[in-house]
Amino acid sequence: MTTLVPEELLGLTGLAVHFTGRRNWRGNRPPPVRAVDGVTFSVGKQETLGLVGESGCGKSTLGNAVLRLVHPTAGQIRFDGRDVTRLDGEELRDLRRDVQMIFQDPYSALNPKIRVGESIGEPLLAHGIAQGKALDDQVSELLGLVGLPPERASRYPHEFSGGQRQRLVIARALALKPRLIVCDEPVSALDVSIRSQILNLLMEFQQKLGLSYLFISHDLSVVRHISHRVAVMYLGRVVELAPRDNLFQEPLHPYTEALISAIPLPDPVAQRQRKRIILKGELPKPTAPPPGCPFHTRCPIAQPMCREKVPPLEEKRPGHWAACHLRS
Ligand code: SF4
Repeated sequence: MTTLVPEELLGLTGLAVHFTGRRNWRGNRPPPVRAVDGVTFSVGKQETLGLVGESGCGKSTLGNAVLRLVHPTAGQIRFDGRDVTRLDGEELRDLRRDVQMIFQDPYSALNPKIRVGESIGEPLLAHGIAQGKALDDQVSELLGLVGLPPERASRYPHEFSGGQRQRLVIARALALKPRLIVCDEPVSALDVSIRSQILNLLMEFQQKLGLSYLFISHDLSVVRHISHRVAVMYLGRVVELAPRDNLFQEPLHPYTEALISAIPLPDPVAQRQRKRIILKGELPKPTAPPPGCPFHTRCPIAQPMCREKVPPLEEKRPGHWAACHLRS
């Protein structure tokens, strides 16, 4: 990226994750699922990059690849200037101190049979950072940091509300003092009333602790609230990437326009007058992506050339990238 991007912490170049199915009884393999198909972007130091798209577009697989929970098929992952694509053993363990994850469902992220203090302290124990009284002190500090009374360390997850459980998950993610957190739909399972509390908490920690976030969500309003830049994914590829305000005020890609037109407006009059772009058809299968532009089967302005030629992701305006033949 050439402009408007802070110094890179995480960098992806041509990242692909394809899943190959088992052979059938005839010995034939089904076509691979191209979950992530050549993604290039970076997340800067102390930056939040929002990653949006419909369910099944590959955004969670991309997050898992960054954490090396799935193996990349091709491409490169860099962390703080170092190629970490194929790390294993001790080096991968070290990377996982620096890169943590927060998942959608805080309840399943916490072992229901273990006291929350033990869950939060588990990474510190596993990495040999603290034990005994020092471990208890650090757990108390982490609970205080996320706004929960330290004496509740001896309680079990079911004794907390959904929002409090997500605070516990954040406390555990912060235990190893990571530099990047991959947040995968971290507020989708929460009541609307507590979503902004959790988002504000994440933003506060970014300021206090100098964190970077790769923030994955299907919800554009949430992404708008927290992100500095936003990448839009469709069928395993990034189709638009821009600073937040540029993306929401002047989207270039027809898919982004359709997503933005579906965000409800607070003003009922403006909502009634606004023209919503309804996409026809379903998201194509990632086993059989359409030729040419992957969006051409649903694009309201597609031209014959769109069926033949893949549009590259190009910097159309400073810092504003889009993959569309017709937009400049
Ligand atoms: Fe639509 Fe063609 Fe642009 Fe693809 S390249 S988004 S099909 S106009």
